[in-house]
Amino acid sequence: MDRLKELREQAAMLSLYNTRDKLEELIHQAEQEEISYTSFIENIFSGEIKHRHDKALVKRIKEAGFPYPKYLKDFDLTFCKSISTKQFRQLSELTWIDGIYNLIFSGPPGVGKTHLAIGLGYKACEEGYKVSYTTMQSLVQCLRTEEIDRRSRAKMNRIRKSNLLLIDEVGYLPVNQTEGNLFFQLISELQEQTSIIITTNKGFEEWTEFLGDPALATAILDRLSYRCDRIKISGKSYRLENRKSFLSEGGITDEV
Ligand code: ADP
Ligand code: MG
Repeated sequence: MDRLKELREQAAMLSLYNTRDKLEELIHQAEQEEISYTSFIENIFSGEIKHRHDKALVKRIKEAGFPYPKYLKDFDLTFCKSISTKQFRQLSELTWIDGIYNLIFSGPPGVGKTHLAIGLGYKACEEGYKVSYTTMQSLVQCLRTEEIDRRSRAKMNRIRKSNLLLIDEVGYLPVNQTEGNLFFQLISELQEQTSIIITTNKGFEEWTEFLGDPALATAILDRLSYRCDRIKISGKSYRLENRKSFLSEGGITDEV
């Protein structure tokens, strides 16, 4: 058998997939650069480690269930006046995940709440944390059906094992008593183990309204805000300010 083919098969048997796929390249490079045996082995090992790291990252991001990618590097702080450069840096450092702190981003539509949440979620995936994204609506649906639906159960299991849970769009739709209770139970369960980021268009005073129960709203907020930073993002909608037009002549106008 061809020697290279045999080596590739052996690499696969040892689960050295990067070495299997790049064998010729690795050998060619070593010959060209006349590197030492030690450096050759080093190249093989470091290639393998990077390959595994990259694969694990892709898996973590996929399992997090983000609706779309958003990155912190694309977040324009000059547009968002509610967060200082220092605060943004502290948020990006992610030490709050180790301290199991929660974050609540509140404000009107289009100010960047979801962008920030997903951006932090991506960064957390890169740093090796287990992250889950859900909208409040989908979370409530999963909580209600986890006993009878395999997919809901799988999603809830993942959420319960996460280091960081993003709950997007809290307060957009009202929640009934049973759903509110299930939500409270989940928040209580996660309290000592998982950081939660909530994005909401509601102020704390309005939580009673969408939860329909003042005692429950107080209990949930009590749990959530024990170790928590609340960031109120005000200002104009980024979407409206940066409206993109498809038509070259400046797009559709209101003129008839
Ligand atoms: P919200 O969740 O507050 O309604 P989003 O996070 O969905 O708003 O933001 C709406 C759009 O505007 C997204 O495409 C987002 O990437 C963009 N956006 C909002 N704020 C900023 C910002 N400060 N810098 C860059 N893009 C932003
Ligand atoms: Mg949003």
